[in-house]
Amino acid sequence: MSALFRNYARRPFAIVEGKGTEVFDTTGKRYLDFTSGIAVCSLGHAHPAIVEAIQKQSEKLWHISNLFESPGQEQLAASLVKDLHLSYAFFCNSGAEANEAAIKIARKHTGKHKIIVFQQSFHGRTFGAMSATGQDKVRSGFGPLVSEFITLPFNDVAALKAAVDGETAAIMLELIQGEGGVNAVTDEFAQAIHDIQQSSDILVIVDEVQTGIGRTGTRFAFEQTVIKPNIVSMAKGLGGGFPIGGILGTSELFDTFSAGTHGTTFGGNPLGVAVAQKVIELIFDEAFLQNVQQKSTYFVTKLKEAFPEEQYTIQGKGLMLGLGLGGEDVASFVAALDEAGLLTVAAGPKVIRLLPPLTVTEQEIDEAVAILKTVIK
Ligand SMILES: *Cc1c(COP(=O)(O)O)cnc(C)c1O
Repeated sequence: MSALFRNYARRPFAIVEGKGTEVFDTTGKRYLDFTSGIAVCSLGHAHPAIVEAIQKQSEKLWHISNLFESPGQEQLAASLVKDLHLSYAFFCNSGAEANEAAIKIARKHTGKHKIIVFQQSFHGRTFGAMSATGQDKVRSGFGPLVSEFITLPFNDVAALKAAVDGETAAIMLELIQGEGGVNAVTDEFAQAIHDIQQSSDILVIVDEVQTGIGRTGTRFAFEQTVIKPNIVSMAKGLGGGFPIGGILGTSELFDTFSAGTHGTTFGGNPLGVAVAQKVIELIFDEAFLQNVQQKSTYFVTKLKEAFPEEQYTIQGKGLMLGLGLGGEDVASFVAALDEAGLLTVAAGPKVIRLLPPLTVTEQEIDEAVAILKTVIK
């Protein structure tokens, strides 16, 4: 009956409308969206400022290509790197594409090919990004992968030190593994990466596709670690629901992406950058980010009250949280939560990921915790 490929395990209902944290299916049933479309709609659904930005730009110019100067990209790039150690941006359309750009610039800049990546990581579905992904379920069946990705256990300092050598172009990681189970980098591991970066010409690529744009309570998650990445990839939250991705890079990379070395037709189109500009304006605001941190503390406190540490684990940072049910598989719980009106997404087989819009209210958090409690206990 369906003319779609079956490459997604879709849930048996369709969401057709949303406002803030609330979404509605075809029957009018209301849900709290604690997925934010997988960390994408960080300002909630149909945020009036985003609606206005897209309407205004759509009446002016949608697309013109990168044959011409782009004031919108200039402004967005400047807003993203402001007060950071990063200097330049390149825009594309998705997280996988952002990681492709990151891998390409790292290889070209260093003239080396070996990139160290980690088990349980997720970097996307294109050949390069898939080859970088430390999960067999993502990589298997597609024939030869892009070579010279070395996959190590995450947070294993000894394994990292043993693997780095003169052939290593880069270390590539998520600071909180999203798809892989909401696993945060340890301080010790971050320090080891920092030390390697300081004492060699090895680049550090931080995949902030999921953690970036305020999701963990700061503009980027790396700001909460000692790591100062040479390259940051981003996507998901950047467009608040409009597809846009990109990388940020340090000044020494400037000459590497010279004219003709990399590009995309749609990347950084006027419509996308106008929306992202508004997203950044709202999220990269000190008061807004502080509010995200406060709501995170509130959410974690309520979760800990409901789910005591002896039996459950609560992982993550900001509004990228994971609830582990003492080693139990979570798939049936996620389905039961849907039924009870709370949308969540699994992170690996054992963790329920909670990714509310950054605009979520304490009242909505209370409601979500009450549903979690009823369904899980
Ligand atoms: C989702 C995700 C990607 C892939 O992004 P797409 O837009 O689906 O290509 C890459 N890295 C991380 C950390 C992600 O969470």
